[in-house]
Amino acid sequence: MPHALRAVRGPHHDFVFNLARGALFGYSTSMAEEQQFKSGFIAIIGRPNVGKSTLLNHLLGEKIAIISDKPQTTRNRILGIVNPPNAQLVFIDTPGIHKPQHKMNEHMVNTALATYNEVDVILLLVEATEPPGAGDKFIIETLKKVTTPVFLLINKVDLIKKDTLLPLIDEYSKLHAFAEIIPVSALRGDAGGLLDAIIKRLSGGPKYFPEDQLTDQPERFVVSELIREKIFVLTKEEIPYSSAVVIEDMKEEPEITRITAIIYVERDSQKGILIGKGGAMLKRIGTLARQDAEKLLGTKIFLQLWVKVKKDWREDDRMLKDLGIAGDKK
Ligand code: GDP
Ligand code: MG
Repeated sequence: MPHALRAVRGPHHDFVFNLARGALFGYSTSMAEEQQFKSGFIAIIGRPNVGKSTLLNHLLGEKIAIISDKPQTTRNRILGIVNPPNAQLVFIDTPGIHKPQHKMNEHMVNTALATYNEVDVILLLVEATEPPGAGDKFIIETLKKVTTPVFLLINKVDLIKKDTLLPLIDEYSKLHAFAEIIPVSALRGDAGGLLDAIIKRLSGGPKYFPEDQLTDQPERFVVSELIREKIFVLTKEEIPYSSAVVIEDMKEEPEITRITAIIYVERDSQKGILIGKGGAMLKRIGTLARQDAEKLLGTKIFLQLWVKVKKDWREDDRMLKDLGIAGDKK
């Protein structure tokens, strides 16, 4: 069983993603370019008040694509997406590990660990103003079971005297074999080359999100992409190119997330093919998309798919805009 996040980006999937993206967004990616492009998921963790939000805001800065702060029950919350040249970094938040220690239980730790093993880099923020505390040590202990590189970010260095930094670095490096230890000041916007250090650890991958798509609902976008990906895998010829996926509704309940999606096609004949004999094709598309989405979002999903014909939707400005394919730009 592949890891959750990796499930959507094996070499085969990269191809499909780019193929899909090229078809819908009107550009194609050469293999050479594709190899250059790097993308990945980065978890930001640490005790409350160490400066996670401040750091993220700085990293997103002008390049901000998405910030989502709505409460969610899914395991992985997409916090923001940064698009440096030739790369896309998806920052995610993992509920559980930064809850107060007394509320910790095995289940929450395991949930968090599942994510930690699937992301490409983990950023652990700690305070420069104090020695490692019980909370930090607890988090570091849980990271021992994780193979993902962990960057230790010693934040708020603007508050300390320089000569206290080295002993602190020393102390932390005795606690864990951190891949990098980077002193930062999130407040002053000094991230000490953090983005470059992250990019170095990423391998080639697809652009998960269109760069200029402003949305506060990245999870919806991911799910629609997963559905579209399955259409590409399972159907032939013009069908994938004639299909657009719109998430009509996404309701998060404690135990399950209910998603209704509509697949738009251009002709009745295409609708027939997508639905398949006795609904078999649509069922396959739905099952595969649901399985991937469940792994990615870490929650049970009830996925309902509808197929609708919308003649010439590709010529329809309004529709293209709704899909985030065409912007307001003239
Ligand atoms: P979070 O709970 O980890 O998300 O922490 P926040 O980002 O909300 O920051 C908590 C507090 O620490 C806020 O008052 C921030 O302004 C402050 N803070 C964050 N980063 C720095 C920093 O680099 N230097 C200083 N002096 N304060 C910081
Ligand atoms: Mg915060």
